[in-house]
Amino acid sequence: MDIKLKEGRVGTDITGPVTERFDLRGRVAMVTGGSRGIGRAMARGLAEAGADVVILSRSTKDEGEAVAEELRALGATGSFAMLADVTKRADLDTAVNETVSRLGKLDIMVANAGIGIDVNAEDMSEDQWDRLMDVNLKGVFFAAQAAAKHMIPRKTGNIVVTSSLSAFVANGNPQACYNTSKAGVNMLVRCLAYEWARHNIRVNAIAPGFIMTDILGPFLKEFPDEAYSYMIRPAAMNRIGTPDELAGAAVFLASDASSYMTGQCIVVDGGYSLTPLENRLT
Ligand code: NAD
Repeated sequence: MDIKLKEGRVGTDITGPVTERFDLRGRVAMVTGGSRGIGRAMARGLAEAGADVVILSRSTKDEGEAVAEELRALGATGSFAMLADVTKRADLDTAVNETVSRLGKLDIMVANAGIGIDVNAEDMSEDQWDRLMDVNLKGVFFAAQAAAKHMIPRKTGNIVVTSSLSAFVANGNPQACYNTSKAGVNMLVRCLAYEWARHNIRVNAIAPGFIMTDILGPFLKEFPDEAYSYMIRPAAMNRIGTPDELAGAAVFLASDASSYMTGQCIVVDGGYSLTPLENRLT
């Protein structure tokens, strides 16, 4: 349809078959908390789609380096690892600067690092509250901000944040602080998406349900009955997810396949949030 608009525009310059729009060849991505669990699986997905990926990890360079090596073997030859604590703005600025000097640019930031604490709300200390909020909320902001400072002048960029199903439901654990941090993350995603859309930067989130990572392993082993009753049975699909089941959503959001989407949160939870537990089919 040939309609002349007074202001604004229709569509983008992105064209071609849909499979090509998932293609990340030539892009550079960074993943915080990328050496383990969900971050590692997302990093692998981005590399499989063609991106070079910078793995940020907090404590052991060896763990991050092993993942970078795995990604280079997949063909993402520019991938490398760095140490960065997401609660330290300077660490993230250094990581972005190092990436730009080694790989020329940063197209995709995946702000994934997060921690959980199970403490009854009435017993939670100020230090526990601050520590969790620092990593889960401030850390996401610092990662997004460090990336945006580089992306804004380039007028292009894509930020993907790992939120949680627990941003939407009180998940049956004593996790008021964690759940609140993830609800905050979702609002932060909306605000950053709104502010940075004019710079052609998209910001979206993925909210995983229960995913088999180091966070869950020990609990499943020690309390199999409880694990079944609040992690597995409530999910309509009757199972826990695996980290690689989030890679598709990460590639979708990080790529041109989601070109008209910003400020949103994709829930990947095996149907956990569909209906109250007492309504589940048996
Ligand atoms: P994980 O413990 O395997 O990975 C968390 C990563 O974050 C680790 O690499 C850790 O080193 C890193 N990290 C923690 N504090 C950091 C800091 N200060 N600076 C830099 N890195 C730091 O756990 P995961 O399950 O892979 O968690 C990844 C993300 O997914 C988290 O944001 C978590 O809240 C979220 N999530 C997990 C689940 C689940 O069931 N596993 C569900 C929903 C959301």
